[in-house]
Amino acid sequence: MGDPQPLDPDTAQARLWGEAILGEVVQHLAGVAASRAANPVPAEQRSSIVREFIAPPPESPADFTTVLEQLTRAAADSLDTTAPGLLGGFVGGGLYASALAAFHTAALNRFGSLAFAAPGFTAIEEGVLRWIATGVLGLPSGSSGILTTGGSAANLSALIAARHHRLGEDFTGGTLYVSEFAHHSVAKAARVAGLPASAVRTVPGDADLRMDVAAAARMIADDRAAGRRPFLLVGTAGHTDTGTVDPLGDLADLAGREDLWFHADAAYGGFFRLTVRGQARLTGIERADSVTIDPHKSLFLPFGTGALVLRDPAILAAAHGLTGPYLRDVGAEEGLPDYAELGLELSREPRGTMLWLPLQLHGVAAFRSALDEKLDLAEHANRRLAGLSGIETPWRPDLSTAVFRARDDAATSRILDHVNADGRIYLTSTTIRGYRIIRLAILSHRTRAADVDHALDLVAEASV
Ligand SMILES: *Cc1c(COP(=O)(O)O)cnc(C)c1O
Repeated sequence: MGDPQPLDPDTAQARLWGEAILGEVVQHLAGVAASRAANPVPAEQRSSIVREFIAPPPESPADFTTVLEQLTRAAADSLDTTAPGLLGGFVGGGLYASALAAFHTAALNRFGSLAFAAPGFTAIEEGVLRWIATGVLGLPSGSSGILTTGGSAANLSALIAARHHRLGEDFTGGTLYVSEFAHHSVAKAARVAGLPASAVRTVPGDADLRMDVAAAARMIADDRAAGRRPFLLVGTAGHTDTGTVDPLGDLADLAGREDLWFHADAAYGGFFRLTVRGQARLTGIERADSVTIDPHKSLFLPFGTGALVLRDPAILAAAHGLTGPYLRDVGAEEGLPDYAELGLELSREPRGTMLWLPLQLHGVAAFRSALDEKLDLAEHANRRLAGLSGIETPWRPDLSTAVFRARDDAATSRILDHVNADGRIYLTSTTIRGYRIIRLAILSHRTRAADVDHALDLVAEASV
C-alpha cells in the first residue's frame, strides 16, 4: 500500500475551492434584493435533479467545477430563504457574518462542549447567552443557558428541566398547560420526555387568540382536585400563526400562585424585546423561569441556532447532567460552564461565534432598528389590508406578522395562488377557528417596504 490520498488540499487548492464558493455566495447576495422567493422548477426537471443528487458518492475524486455547479443547482431548486419576498414563515434571511463565523468555526473544528478545550470560544458563547438572558429578555443576573439547534430542542430541554425540578424522577400525573395556539414542539417535547398525551392540557384562546388565563386557572384547579400534579405553564411570545403574544404578566402571576414552572416560548418573538414596542408587548417575559428564543428567527441568523435561557441554569445541569468516565480529565475552567452538562449533546461546535460575529460587526443598534422596521412594516401591511375591499383583518399584529382572509376559503385560496404565482413573493396559509387565513410573516432583515408593498399590490389585484 502506498501513502493514502491526502484529504487536505494543498494551499493553492484550498484557496481555489474556498474562493470559488465565497465568490458564488457573494454574487448571490449582491443580487438578492431582486431574487425570487419561490423558484418552482418543472416537475420532470425536479425528479431528475433528485435522482442525480441522491446517488452514492464516487470512489475517486469528482471534478470541483462539476460539484460546485451541482451545489448551485441544488440551491436554485428551493425556496430562496435569503430572498426579501419570502414571507411565508419565520425565516430570518441568514446573516452573512454568521455564515462566515460558522465556516471559521467548522474549519478550525474546536470542541465546544467542554470549557477547558476552548475557553475563549466558551466565553464567547457564554457572553452571548448572558446578553440574551439579561440584556435582551430582562432576566436577573446569573441567568444563562445553552445554545441549541433551534426552538424545538430548546423547548425540549426546558420541559425536561421543569419536569425534573418540579416532579422529580417519578412524574406520574404531571400536567402542563399550553395555549391552543402554542407551537406543536411543546407537545412533542412532552411526548419525547415520556409524558402521556393526556398530560398536555390545551387551554383555549380568547377572542384575541391570547391564552385565556381564567380558563387555565380553572383547569389547573380541576386537575389538582383530581389528584394530578400540575407543574408547568407555557406562554407563547409570538404565536407561529399570527404572532400573537400571550398575556405573559398574568401567566407569570398564575404560575406564581400555583407554584408552576413558567416557560415562555419566544422562539419567534424574543428579540423584538430589543425594541421599545417589543419590550412593552413582551412585558412579563422577564418573570419566566425559562425562555426559548431563536436567533435563527428574530436575530436573522442562518438556520441552526436556537437558545434556551433560565433564571437558574444549575437546574438545567441537574436535569441533564450525567457524565462518563472518559470525561474524567476535564474540569471547571474559569467559572465557565461545560455545555455538555446542560443539554443532550456531547460533541458539538462552539456555537456562540454565529451570534457573536454579527453582533460585533454590526452592533446591537443595527438589530434594534431592523426589528423596529419589521414592526412598522407589519402595521403598514395591516392598515393597507384593512382598507382593501373583500379583505378582512380579524387580528391586529402584535409583532411582525399581519394576517388576513377573504370572504370565504375559496376566495382566500385564490388570493394565495395569485400572490405565489408571481414568484417574487411567497406566502403561506393556516387555519384558525375553521377559517383559512393568509399570513404575511415579515422577519428577514432584507424585507423592506417595497417588498411588502409588492405583496400587497398582488393581494389587491386578486381581491377585487
Ligand atoms: C419556530 C417555533 C418553534 C420551533 O423552533 P425551531 O427552531 O423551528 O425548532 C417553537 N415555538 C415557536 C413559537 C416557534 O415559532
